[in-house]
Amino acid sequence: MIHSVHSPQFTVLSPLAGCLSVLGSGLWTVDWRPWTADWSLVPFHFWSLVFFALGCIVGSFLNVCIYRLPLGMSIITPRSHCPYCKYSIPWYLNIPLVTWLALRGRCKNCGAPISWRYFAVELLTGVAFLSCWLAFGNAGHPLPSMPVALVYAVFLAGLIAATFIDFEHFIIPDEITFGGMAVGFAASFFVPSLHDASTLNVGLRRSFIGAIVGAATIYGILRLGKLLFGRQWVKWPRDAKIIFTETSVHLPDKEIPYDELFYRKSDVIMLHARTVELVDRGYQDVLVRLSPSALEIGEEKMNPNDVPCMEAVSTEIVLPREAMGLGDVKFMGAIGAFLGWQGVVFSLMFSSLIGAVVGVTLIVMRRREWSSRMPYGPYIALAAAVWIFGGKKLVPWLLAM
Ligand SMILES: [Zn+2]
Repeated sequence: MIHSVHSPQFTVLSPLAGCLSVLGSGLWTVDWRPWTADWSLVPFHFWSLVFFALGCIVGSFLNVCIYRLPLGMSIITPRSHCPYCKYSIPWYLNIPLVTWLALRGRCKNCGAPISWRYFAVELLTGVAFLSCWLAFGNAGHPLPSMPVALVYAVFLAGLIAATFIDFEHFIIPDEITFGGMAVGFAASFFVPSLHDASTLNVGLRRSFIGAIVGAATIYGILRLGKLLFGRQWVKWPRDAKIIFTETSVHLPDKEIPYDELFYRKSDVIMLHARTVELVDRGYQDVLVRLSPSALEIGEEKMNPNDVPCMEAVSTEIVLPREAMGLGDVKFMGAIGAFLGWQGVVFSLMFSSLIGAVVGVTLIVMRRREWSSRMPYGPYIALAAAVWIFGGKKLVPWLLAM
């Protein structure tokens, strides 16, 4: 037993030194079967350190995902490298937090600045993992409590990646949403206590219900929003070039995939163009209407699939508009798979509260206009995190009111 391997002075040693002495002197005599070990001998904050360090390493990986997933790049190869000089970062320089600080946020080879985001994501993920251990861990009984802490830690890691990607690209990649749902189902099956269940299939059932309620609610809101504020006018001070490719429309300041504009057959992109150019002909001063099934230029009607590229010049365009995208539907599904339907309802209500407060604040500060688009994913993510650490405990209290 672990008892036999260290001296009685153990209690006066610092916790970390105590751990090291257990690990160092007892390697050969310790009974390593984890269920017989007396885990209370390992100081609580030894695990806190482990969780924090693990979180920083995971954060380092999330940085790779945040940069590469939206660009459709592999997250395995190539190795991390400087985007400016392609300098491949050796493993001994790839230490979370430390590297960025030691190099003062610059590439070691060419001196190009490395975004603060890398440091922020590593620290945030480290803190998230640590918080999960502090909230759900129990050093005396780590075997039952560690899985819950780890599942929530993985869940928060997904939220962090989704948040940073959504802010920058207005999408949440399927790897995170569908991947998250799969992980959520598996975790709920193996750790049913996530859903206050004691048997595997009850955990899984509650996870399924959560995913369905999550996705269905957001989908309903999306449809309703479409009916209420279905269109958006975008205007420019002078003539602007608008390019329609096979997959997206390029406006002067951004590119929007058709996936985000066309949800229904009746969705239409409309503009009055000064000139329109196709590969083989041109038009002047015509009304252009593009829907998923038809392209109308003036009187002419054609199949959009026959027109690989079109260039128009105009001062304005009318777009079908969404307050939320299908990415949010899948994202809420993934959140439901982890948190169950109560977590979904809370996340939805709390996120719209935060969204409203932030939106109005920004408008009052004149940082944004009423019509401009904001990603909604980060608010859902924040609300889901609040649910884990506090919201869940509020439910009985709210119900009692
Ligand atoms: Zn470089």
